[in-house]
Amino acid sequence: MSNENPPVLTGPALWSAQAHLPSVLGRQLTVDRAEGSYVFTTDGRRLFDGTAGLWHANVGHSRPELADAAHEQMRRLETYHIFGRYLNDRAVELAERLATLSPVDDPKVILNSGGSDAIDVACKLARRHWQREGRTGKTVILSREFAYHGLHAYGTSIAGLDFNRVGYGTESLVPETARVSPHDIEAVERTVRDIGPENIAAIVSEPIQGTGGVNPPAPGYLEGLQRICRQNDILLIVDEVITGFGRTGHMFACERYGLRPDLITFAKGITSGYAPLGGVLVAPHIWQPFYRDSSDTPVFRHGATYAGHATASAVALRNLDLLEEDKLLPRVTELEQLLARELNGLTARAAVVETRVAGFLGGITLTDDINAEAVTDELVELGFITRPLRGNTVQISPPFITTDDEVRQLVAAVDTVLSAQEAK
Ligand code: PLP
Repeated sequence: MSNENPPVLTGPALWSAQAHLPSVLGRQLTVDRAEGSYVFTTDGRRLFDGTAGLWHANVGHSRPELADAAHEQMRRLETYHIFGRYLNDRAVELAERLATLSPVDDPKVILNSGGSDAIDVACKLARRHWQREGRTGKTVILSREFAYHGLHAYGTSIAGLDFNRVGYGTESLVPETARVSPHDIEAVERTVRDIGPENIAAIVSEPIQGTGGVNPPAPGYLEGLQRICRQNDILLIVDEVITGFGRTGHMFACERYGLRPDLITFAKGITSGYAPLGGVLVAPHIWQPFYRDSSDTPVFRHGATYAGHATASAVALRNLDLLEEDKLLPRVTELEQLLARELNGLTARAAVVETRVAGFLGGITLTDDINAEAVTDELVELGFITRPLRGNTVQISPPFITTDDEVRQLVAAVDTVLSAQEAK
């Protein structure tokens, strides 16, 4: 290692998220306006949002219906906390609505500020459940290799992308986590046997791994996880932060894969990003002990000032209306088929190893000699936002209001860039 200290770079006061700063400073794109599926930057670009931001802008950007919902709510009640005796009517209404949409029957709904929050709550609640049951050894949280569950304490600790977990002085910020095979259910069974079901609180899984490279589940894998959980008294936490609210053409991907988890985390698509909101759907056998009419009934000691934020809830309610009014779930199914066909056309290219589509969610994995990050940079120059993911993969997950032509244009632009890269 060199003794010389490289010069310190400056840049905006705002510290970018998840960035290797020397690689991005001086070439960051600042968005100051958006409309539908397009964002506009301060240096005059109009870009097709081929990732819906961070998989969140599902109904499209800057919709007046959602702006009005926030405005009207703030003029009546910006929010009121939901600690102890207090509630606010909007959070109550949203929870009722979510209960009717939930793949888990008769759930209770915990509301907070985003996906990382939701993961922290779900993991805490899983551990709390077993402590309350007196099975105090059941503390380990298992997650899949390549998983992404946000970056709060639990999300960091259960990250299946190692770079998100290391550098904090211990193997994991929160003790007692471990990774399982992301696709081989027999290997998962072996890990569960090795650790011992008596030590395991929960297994957490995305239905389709997002940040890990857009990896749809191997046939039978998720059903296998569910079976292992049931047979071994392990809670199943399904992380629907990306897939919830329509991304797979179902309200929840659990419906697509026949899952009935104990806990479901959600965020992003519940407001299409118009307000920070996430939460957890909780199955009856987890919540009922906390609702028993007795002086020694336990308390789940979790909450935050913005839990059940009234304006965020009002926006979510209107966003759920829009999914219905605009018939966006059946539209996603059409878009999935179109995207699958279009991406399949790219597989003839030498640069492409594989394409994967599940829902309106696609990944293009490139050969080692073509760099996914360089491809996404070139696509910006052609007017399209995509994103490099683990495994030299390009992410495609546009808003649900995308037209057929826009899908074709996006894939044609990828084809153009790959052809230029192959020629280098
Ligand atoms: N879980 C999954 C599957 C995610 O993809 C993300 C974010 O991308 C999170 C959790 C974290 O959500 P948030 O960024 O809202 O904290």
